[in-house]
Amino acid sequence: MSKQRKSLNMFHLPAKVIKDRYRLCPKCGNFAHFSLEQFYCVVCGTKMIEECKRCKEPIIYPTSKFCPICGESYLEI
Ligand SMILES: [Zn+2]
Ligand SMILES: [Zn+2]
Repeated sequence: MSKQRKSLNMFHLPAKVIKDRYRLCPKCGNFAHFSLEQFYCVVCGTKMIEECKRCKEPIIYPTSKFCPICGESYLEI
């Protein structure tokens, strides 16, 4: 009687899939993967950023210098 239906919900992912995240040094451009929990740059000692300071979009490209959403610069000038 009981139907063994597997939930199909897992296939209904939101449009925004989970991406890798990185932390970026706003001074020298050094980066580290989010899972490393590297909060300070190992090169220059500056506090790393993990999201755009303007729109709060997470940093998903380790070599990016600008936010792909709002165009804000990640680097301090
Ligand atoms: Zn640095
Ligand atoms: Zn932004």
